[in-house]
Amino acid sequence: MRWRNLEAGELRKEHVGQRLALAGWAARRRDHGGLVFIDLRDEGGLAQLVINPERAPQAAEVAHGVRNEFVIRAEGEVTARAPEAVNPSLPTGEVELQVDELEIVSRSEPLPFQVDEENVDESTRLRYRYLDLRREHMQRNLRLSATVVAAIRRYMDEHGFVDIWTPNLTKATPEGARDFLVPVRLQPGRFFALPQSPQIFKQILMVAGMGRYYQIATCFRDEDLRADRQFEFRQLDLELSFPTREDVWETLEGAVGASFEALERTPPERPFRRLTWHEAMARYGSDKPDLRFGLELHDLTEATRDSEFKVFAQAPSVQYLTVPQELSRAELGSLEELAKEWGGKGLAYLVFDEEGEVRSPIAKFLSAELIEAVRPEQPSATVLFGADEPLAVARVLSAVRNHLGRELGLIDTSRDEFLWVTDFPLFEWDEDGGRWTFSHHPFTGIRPGDEDLIESDPGRALSQAYDLVWNGWELGSGSIRIHDPVLQQRVFAAMGISKEEAEERFGFLLEVLRMGAPPHGGFAMGLERFVALLAGEQNIREVVAFPKTASGSEPLSGAPTPIAQEILAELGIQVLPETT
Ligand code: ASP
Repeated sequence: MRWRNLEAGELRKEHVGQRLALAGWAARRRDHGGLVFIDLRDEGGLAQLVINPERAPQAAEVAHGVRNEFVIRAEGEVTARAPEAVNPSLPTGEVELQVDELEIVSRSEPLPFQVDEENVDESTRLRYRYLDLRREHMQRNLRLSATVVAAIRRYMDEHGFVDIWTPNLTKATPEGARDFLVPVRLQPGRFFALPQSPQIFKQILMVAGMGRYYQIATCFRDEDLRADRQFEFRQLDLELSFPTREDVWETLEGAVGASFEALERTPPERPFRRLTWHEAMARYGSDKPDLRFGLELHDLTEATRDSEFKVFAQAPSVQYLTVPQELSRAELGSLEELAKEWGGKGLAYLVFDEEGEVRSPIAKFLSAELIEAVRPEQPSATVLFGADEPLAVARVLSAVRNHLGRELGLIDTSRDEFLWVTDFPLFEWDEDGGRWTFSHHPFTGIRPGDEDLIESDPGRALSQAYDLVWNGWELGSGSIRIHDPVLQQRVFAAMGISKEEAEERFGFLLEVLRMGAPPHGGFAMGLERFVALLAGEQNIREVVAFPKTASGSEPLSGAPTPIAQEILAELGIQVLPETT
């Protein structure tokens, strides 16, 4: 016996008159006393079953017992629906199956929520993910994800990239997060780290002469979870030998374009826009600006040096942005709250009314000249100021900018803005550690000509790193790498990593670089972020089959769980009592 001859969603007019079997879930049952209608759902869609007690008394008997989400199998004849019963919103809406035989294949307990119910709380959805995944939008998201991955693979294969698997049990790869560690029974007290990325292995593959590598790689990072972050996620990871930055960008732009095409969408215009990190920070206060709206930042530091307003005069950086409308006191109040959440001390403002008159508690401290300097072209506008360290101003004003972009409906959602942000600083100052650390990872290449700054002025050295940004989301990062072991040592040294420590942590890479390393570079794009944006989702959990909750658990299986003493002992591990 065949379970079914067709998928439910494939049923069409051309099947009228055929006898066939369908199998799937009872999505809905309408019992009219006599006739029973069941919407049968499978992976292909919905089809309507009609069970008529006069035609099939036994099937009608069975139909009365069917409940939502029972698995059923129906055999019968496909008939055309009466014109008034046609459902134009359903691809199968012109036909139905007149059932002769109906079988309950599998029953369902009463459900914790209905599959078509809206607004089910997320922890319940994740606890019963198998029910949640039966929903149309989740089915669509997972299928979309598979389509994109397949398109990317095709594109990479066609462009000569070799898919190479790299180990998941490995040594720590510094990408700025904590490692997940795996104890080793055969060597108690020793641990593998799950890779934060295949970074070192892909570089080694270039030294190994592979030329072009790619992988859909799972990466593991122990960091706080957010809407766009999971402990584990996939990257389109790639590396090329002898590349220019443009070669890497072209590859990515092609893979992105191929993904759009696979979804039958118009690919974004190429080449993508480019901004240096300095320009992005100056104009948007962010290294991942959303370019679908303006509200650009302007610098006022010079002009405020002699201001009577001490907050401005004394701040290392003063910047402002102009909102094209008068904001109310309440709106300004909530923006100030937002600024404080992002580490700002406050949010100074000037409101220009319709006549161009200024309203502001700080206006009396500002010279007429300064007010003229920021006066907007249009009347009825608000100028918002940030005054602090440059990066702190950028953080606050970019949060305000993004918030206003959304709240005031300034974002042109019909646009897709892809952007390369280039020339990142090589190092960042680590306040806690009191030393320079890498901004991307320690293998990032230096902008040619900046090598001497490594020792003399590390904060000014620029790198050959670049990020890809889509509508304000960072999709991934990459760089041209350091292929000279001496330069690599100098970068380690600048970050306070001693020769011994470098040897201990990265000795194998340094050795590899000493044995004929070609220039190389690459990129990694976060697949879940990319897919979430393609699917129009705000949260990557919506495109992951079995994600972790924000607190880092997996509600369906209940992981993580404690482990029995004997097993821990075998691994040489003793768990400290909780101290909280
Ligand atoms: N390994 C880097 C990352 O995961 C990407 C790269 O530099 O290729 O962000």
